[in-house]
Amino acid sequence: MSVLRLEHVTKRFGGLVAVNDLSFEVKERQIHALIGPNGSGKSTSINMINGSFPVTSGKIYFNDKDITGWKMHKIAAAGMGRTYQNLKLFRSMTALENVMIGGQLHAKMNFARFLIDPFKTKREEEELREKAMEIMRFIGIEQYADRTVGNLPYGRQKMTELARTLMIDPTLILLDEPAAGLNPNERAEFVAIIKKVYESGKDILLIEHNMDIIMNISHVITVINHGAKIAEGTPTEIQNDPEVIRAYLGD
Ligand code: ADP
Ligand code: MG
Repeated sequence: MSVLRLEHVTKRFGGLVAVNDLSFEVKERQIHALIGPNGSGKSTSINMINGSFPVTSGKIYFNDKDITGWKMHKIAAAGMGRTYQNLKLFRSMTALENVMIGGQLHAKMNFARFLIDPFKTKREEEELREKAMEIMRFIGIEQYADRTVGNLPYGRQKMTELARTLMIDPTLILLDEPAAGLNPNERAEFVAIIKKVYESGKDILLIEHNMDIIMNISHVITVINHGAKIAEGTPTEIQNDPEVIRAYLGD
């Protein structure tokens, strides 16, 4: 079974072709990396995969089901979680509350309803709280549960966002530059957490700029430039691919 498959996916913004006839497949039990220079269409690809942006053309399959054109919440409910390149946390709320919201923002609840009636019943709230705490323990950030998230170090905020993503029990997680802006210690911690999440049974599509991280944890790498695929293979194959080296050195 394929976890995720893009077939000839194109995204145009007016005259700009941000993603150009892109096809690739994420197989089961893999950390699959999507890399490429700045502006090459990585975030746009993730945005189409999770339903944030409609595709201009092409097809996207999740667990062999055609999800092209599906709404974001429906894709999330089917088991796809994601984090963002720029954090999307409620900065004045606690870390725990931010994680709990992850369990509210899927299928059955729309956002307006959430704002009116955040936690349907006390019992539901209690269950969410327990689940959120369990996930925070798993990630190793339970000691920050009651802290205002906006006051936490950036690395802890990123971990909180990842914890929130896990609240929907995703089978596939899309990570958009999870290590960007982290210091070397935080980066090492985050890599360990990504591995732990992967080992807990989840498949991962990882966008990352840091080559050491990519080469260290991914099984397969797809390289795009100007929205189009230029190479695909194992870390060793990619490291030695002349076209990839050219794209990165920009000659
Ligand atoms: P990457 O994540 O690889 O750095 P992006 O996917 O963010 O690249 O962007 C690819 C191209 O699409 C860039 O030229 C960017 O300016 C453009 N782009 C991205 N999002 C939009 C948008 N919402 N509207 C118009 N152009 C966009
Ligand atoms: Mg990006």
